[in-house]
Formats: sequence, C-alpha cells, structure tokens
Amino acid sequence: MDAPKHPNDPSLRSFVEVAPDSPFPIQNLPWGVFSTSSDSRPRVGVAIGDLVLDVAALEDAGLMPRMSAKSAFRQPSLNTLIAAGGYSWSVARRHVSQILRHDDPRLRDDKALRARALIPQSQARMHLPIEVKGYTDFYSSREHATNVGTMFRGKDNALNENWLWMPIGYNGRASTVIVSGEPVRRPKGQIKGPDFPAPVHAPSRRLDIELEMGVIVGVDTKIGETMSVEQAQGAIFGFSLLNDWSARDIQQWEYVPLGPFQGKAFATSPGAWVTTAEALEPFRVEGPRQDPPPLDYLRQTGAHNYDIELEVELRPKGATQGVIVSRTNFKGMYWSSAQQIAHHASSGCAMRVGDLLGSGTISGSEKGTFGSLLELTWGGKEPLALPDGRTRTFLEDGDVVILRGWKQCEGYRIGLGECAGEIAPAQ
Ligand code: CA
Repeated sequence: MDAPKHPNDPSLRSFVEVAPDSPFPIQNLPWGVFSTSSDSRPRVGVAIGDLVLDVAALEDAGLMPRMSAKSAFRQPSLNTLIAAGGYSWSVARRHVSQILRHDDPRLRDDKALRARALIPQSQARMHLPIEVKGYTDFYSSREHATNVGTMFRGKDNALNENWLWMPIGYNGRASTVIVSGEPVRRPKGQIKGPDFPAPVHAPSRRLDIELEMGVIVGVDTKIGETMSVEQAQGAIFGFSLLNDWSARDIQQWEYVPLGPFQGKAFATSPGAWVTTAEALEPFRVEGPRQDPPPLDYLRQTGAHNYDIELEVELRPKGATQGVIVSRTNFKGMYWSSAQQIAHHASSGCAMRVGDLLGSGTISGSEKGTFGSLLELTWGGKEPLALPDGRTRTFLEDGDVVILRGWKQCEGYRIGLGECAGEIAPAQ
C-alpha cells in the first residue's frame, strides 16, 4: 500500500468504480443520512460513485475511529459528527478516504462487509442530513439584488444604501426545511394584485425557485461571542445545494416593512449530500472587489469565495425531458459565506452546530445566468419557451426543478449532487 495521501489528492483512486462525470469521486466524499428497506434506521453515509458507503457499518466493523462519547455515525443526522469539531471532520474523512482506496484491502477484499456497507444509491432513501437548528437566508448576489430591486422599486432605487455595507439577511424557518426529493406543497397566502380592491387568501400563483448554496455551520458559540471572518471560515462544516422556494405574490404584498415572512416559510430544500469545506478548499477564489471597503469586522483577505458551476433544470409537468433554464457560478457572490457568518455573530448572536445559512439567490449578469424565475421571466413578463412549445413564467403543479453544482477537475468532478423538488397542489 502506498503512503497516506491527503483526501483531496488528485492521484487517489478507489476500488469502487466511479464514472468520470460522477459528482462523487474519492476526492469528494460528501456526508449524508440514509436508510434502506432492509434497515430503516437513518444513519450516516458517504457517497462514492453510484454507491453509499454505510459509515455506521464500517464503525461496527472496527474500521472507523471513535469521534465522540457516542457513535457519530449511527445517528439520524450529521450533528454529532459536526459537534465533534473540525479536527474530527478531517480525521473521519481521512479514514473513509483510506478505506475506499484501490490499494486498501480491508473493505475491498471483505465480500461480506462490502455487501453490508456499500449500497446502491438507487436503493437508499435519503433523509435531511442535518438537524437544522436555525435557518438564515442571505441576499448576497449583487446581480440578484439589483434585478429584484429594479423590479420592485425601480432602477434608481435597486440597491438599498445598506446593501454594500453588510450582508443583508433575515431569520427564516427551520421547521420548513425539507430534504431534496420531498414534494413542495404550493402555499396559500394573502395576495393582492395591482387591480385588487382588497387582498384574497389563495394558493400562490407566482411560485418560484431560488438557486442557492447552503452553508452548514459547524460550531456552537455563546451569546455575546463574536467571530472574525477567518474564524467564520473555519466554522463552516460544509456546503449543499439549496432551493429556497418562494411565493412571489405573497412576498410582494407582505414584505413591507419587515421583509420576507410567509412567502418564504413553506419549503426550503437542501441537497441530501453535504460536501465538506475541506473538499472544496482547492476551489477557493477571490470574490468581486468590495467598494466601499467593508468595516473592520467584515474585512477579509485572500480567497473566501468558491468556484462552483451551477445549473437549474426545469422539467415541466408531463414533459419527457427537462430544459436547463440557468447556468451560473457561485464565485461571483459579493459577500462571502465567511463574511455572512461573521456578520451574523457580530451582534453577539449565538451560532449553533447545524445552523443552515442560505447564500442568497445566485445570479450572474446575463439573462441565462439568473437564479430565479422572477428574474429569468422578468417578473413574469417574458415567459420561458419550453422545447415542446409550451411556456412557463412561474411553476405549475407537477413541475420538477433540479439544481446541480460541481467543479470540473482534471479527469474527475467534485459535485454537490442534485437538489430536486416537485410541486404538489395547494392543500
Ligand atoms: Ca433565499
């Protein structure tokens, strides 16, 4: 067996066959929580190629180190593993990487263990990977904020004065975070069209997506404790795709003066797999130049953004195939995830292991790069043409939306998998 290698080492190979376009090569090793028909207990797994590695089964076989007083892997969420701290995250990933190497015989040559511990993803039911303690949604793409501001307030007032000084956000609902694949129920709410004499209470007619990245916070802080941007960077356990479903008609009527509320409180879907910050470390890049320079507590040096390609597929109800409606990149965000966390903690707000932060809708500067239908159809005025001749402005019942994200490397890609949801009719 060769010497130990860092889990990100491009030369690593697994005995598990991994297609070149799979999001899950041995250099990725994202964490998730799954169960199977033969064992309905949700437990921690790692994606490798088309398989899930049952890390709890590895632990039972004595092949994983003890992370904490109780098992970190025979758990219905990743929170125990995350709470064990950053050193343990790396140790656990290194062990999994080692066990999956092409030249490590411990799992490769143990037929019985392989049958127990390597399960086709098609046979795994994925669960919400995190027990989400709090959900905070940011608004950190300058292009997205400018587009929405232009539609809601006109071009001259598109960006509020505060936007360039801090990452704008609001406290969302952890109770409506659902894992990718669960249906998204069309919400009802108060809607007041421009020509309505009074609002009506009705199912949303402008149901939308928000293409985002979810950040999983990996530290507990005390009330009153603050974090530098560098500390905040180290507090990131990992990233998942995130679709922050939005009801634009409900939102537009309710958002003055306190901001988003019920129009954003019915479904938020993270992907089932959490890719660690460590696996994405090679893809850190500098974000856009920040002018005015941020206040001291938000000042960052070096690379805090991530170069990750993103796309949105829309599969309209009844269509045999989907259409890619947007392609963009996470690297263009004005405020970094680390700045968002530093700002969040700056009031003395306690952060929790398992907090989920939405990056904010990720939009580029051109039409095919926007992260919401609101922008892609410019407020519903410019419908999207579908391949079968139909059109879409906002989502209809039965429509499916799939987000994907990845970084292409030489010979493999580090992917976040897919984040999918189908619209179910209002109750
Ligand atoms: Ca959002």
